[in-house]
Amino acid sequence: MNPVLESPSPVRTDEIRRPLVQAQGVRKSYGPIQVLKGIDLQVDAGQVMCLLGPSGSGKSTFLRCINHLERIDGGRINFDGELIGYAQRNGKLHEMKPREVARQRRGIGMVFQRFNLFPHLTALENIIAAPIGIRKVPKAQAVAQAHALLEQVGLGDKAGLHPAKLSGGQQQRVAIARALAMEPKLMLFDEPTSALDPELVGDVLDVMQKLAASGMTMIVVTHEIGFARNVADEVVFMDAGIVVESGAPAKVLGNPSHERTRAFLENVI
Ligand code: ADP
Ligand code: MG
Repeated sequence: MNPVLESPSPVRTDEIRRPLVQAQGVRKSYGPIQVLKGIDLQVDAGQVMCLLGPSGSGKSTFLRCINHLERIDGGRINFDGELIGYAQRNGKLHEMKPREVARQRRGIGMVFQRFNLFPHLTALENIIAAPIGIRKVPKAQAVAQAHALLEQVGLGDKAGLHPAKLSGGQQQRVAIARALAMEPKLMLFDEPTSALDPELVGDVLDVMQKLAASGMTMIVVTHEIGFARNVADEVVFMDAGIVVESGAPAKVLGNPSHERTRAFLENVI
């Protein structure tokens, strides 16, 4: 029996719905190439959005724009009531100072395709580094939290191991725990299972499913259609820098409106 499937779903009523991420007309170019051509999206607090689309459609770029790894050329992204990268002072918008950017980024966790753990640190040390260094959490508290997070991702017995001693799937679960240690309001996942051997994918998806059931707001770029169908509140299909269609998983995955979505799904399934 899969414990994930037995966890109760969080209550998601209209009264507690509030937008956490709102993208409006987001545009981004690299030189002459326009990669995002006006992206409109909204993710409510507690919701899971899965972003699907062919390689090169701009999915990673969009996540990077939310997380300040790229600066957008047009449109706006609102995160938890603030514009990403801009602060309002005296009724005018100003580019955020580095310290404000850092504060805003702390609210957003990101997990990449490659695990990006510090190779010279143990699993536990990887997890406590940012809480101690950035959030100024006392070490004993950070260590206790890290042990709890390792339990949560099914690696309670791996705290003292270095990344090289862990499988790819275990490393990715440490990376998830490390992001969660910053107590983010939003988690971004960029193809978190694409670099894994097939037999390791399930454990990582289980951890993500549990996280979703706990009420975490998540944007997940993935080709795992089963995960999107079971876990997403909304599925968005992107192609060539635009949102082609979006909606409930059953609709977008089961009965897509657009030929491009249909062609993509035929290739991945
Ligand atoms: P996806 O994640 O959907 O595969 P990406 O967002 O990675 O797509 O890339 C979208 C397009 O932007 C691709 O054509 C890619 O080559 C281009 N691109 C991404 N990052 C850069 C960059 N730093 N400089 C130039 N082009 C880039
Ligand atoms: Mg990508």
